Amino acid sequence: MYKIDCTVAVIGGGPAGLAAAISAKKEGAEKVIIVERDNALGGILQQCIHPGFGLTRFKEELTGPEYYSRFTSRLEEEGVDVLLNTMVLEVNGKTNKIICVNGEYGLTEINAKSIVLSMGCRERTRANIVVPGTRPAGLYTAGSAQRLINRQNVMVGKKAVILGSGDIGMIMARRLTLEGAKVELVVELMPYLAGLTRNRVQCLDDFGIPLKLSHTITAIVGEKRVEGVKIAPVDQNKKPILEKEEFIPCDTVLFSVGLIPENELSKGAGVEINPITNGPTVNQYMQTNIPSIFASGNVVHVNDLVDNVSSESETAGKYACLYANGKLNSNSEVITVKTGSNVRYVCPQKIALQEGKASLYFRVLSPDENVTLIAKDGDTILARKKELRVSPGEMCNLSIDVSKIVNGVTVEVVKE
Ligand SMILES: Cc1cc2nc3c(=O)[nH]c(=O)nc-3n(C[C@H](O)[C@H](O)[C@H](O)COP(=O)(O)OP(=O)(O)OC[C@H]3O[C@@H](n4cnc5c(N)ncnc54)[C@H](O)[C@@H]3O)c2cc1C
Repeated sequence: MYKIDCTVAVIGGGPAGLAAAISAKKEGAEKVIIVERDNALGGILQQCIHPGFGLTRFKEELTGPEYYSRFTSRLEEEGVDVLLNTMVLEVNGKTNKIICVNGEYGLTEINAKSIVLSMGCRERTRANIVVPGTRPAGLYTAGSAQRLINRQNVMVGKKAVILGSGDIGMIMARRLTLEGAKVELVVELMPYLAGLTRNRVQCLDDFGIPLKLSHTITAIVGEKRVEGVKIAPVDQNKKPILEKEEFIPCDTVLFSVGLIPENELSKGAGVEINPITNGPTVNQYMQTNIPSIFASGNVVHVNDLVDNVSSESETAGKYACLYANGKLNSNSEVITVKTGSNVRYVCPQKIALQEGKASLYFRVLSPDENVTLIAKDGDTILARKKELRVSPGEMCNLSIDVSKIVNGVTVEVVKE
């Protein structure tokens, strides 16, 4: 079997893997390798030709390819190795051995001192959410439609209904319209938007595309090709009110109903998975319960902004290098971050009590206005920030000084 030895192996060459690899190399890792199954780097951003990337990091509005090019253009000068067309099949959490398959070398074994998991996520499909009706042509996940249109120049339909108001769904509503299709409606089960408000304004409102909140698709109609969908409002328990069902003619339905972190490899390695995020439980160094395995990006928790993915991945890469070089103390006391009022989850979920700062990323359970985000240890406030508006679709963030923690940390969103 073909064998490679390295200091840090990064699995996945999307924005997370790119930032982690560069950061590990800058920190002094001797040999860093990115293993990517695709024939090119960039991950999901290869198909995101819309602007909106890099506003925080570069203070510019870049397209997806422009954003990841800022990283890929540095790989050679930083000395990061890349193995494309290579699918990782297994990660051994006890030996740090990675088994992958590459078109040129066949079955390949990579021995790393530390590993960064950056495999991103995949889309939920119609089957995951069980929408009744027939199985005609014209049904796509929003991401697969985006790939067909933006990378393969294939138009998916002329008249569309989109289920789900997440960012991909709204971005695809605009893309379909720009490509000459008519988007009849975006249908959202929840009483609030699932994605960023800026995407509602720029992708729906600016193009006159209607959004129906608290509605769902109750049936898909059509034999060979979609002929339409039945939609209905839902009650407080999200149960469709069938007496109010209506038929919307269309030839295409896009499902934008959430993303699932790609964690088969993580689970196989014995990495602890958080039941809320469906990604690895990590500490402030993006280190998992297996000290040599780090994780970052959408494989940990679904991010709305790639800028946040790059920052947390730089942390993962830095500490993966320090671990590999024997410079990360993995024996300090670890506490679990608690979620308080209106907080769905916090990442990192654990904090190792050492010197330094920790960035806490979190999402709220329900939308609210004029609130204060608080991280506290008992009665001691570790960080606070006022926000005019919070919503489950937009990530919140607080930075805390870890050395000030005595007993534990609770994060809450309150009206003051
Ligand atoms: C449609 C869409 C629109 C978006 N719009 C915006 C926006 O306007 N602004 C913004 O800031 N953010 C946006 N985002 C969010 C941002 O793009 C993501 O948060 C970011 O791409 C996540 O990066 P990642 O590296 O974690 O995952 P990915 O980009 O998904 O990369 C994961 C990589 O891992 C590889 N991989 C997976 N499994 C294996 C394996 N077993 N072996 C080898 N390789 C593997 C994959 O091939 C892929 O290249 C958008 C996301 C989507 C999906």
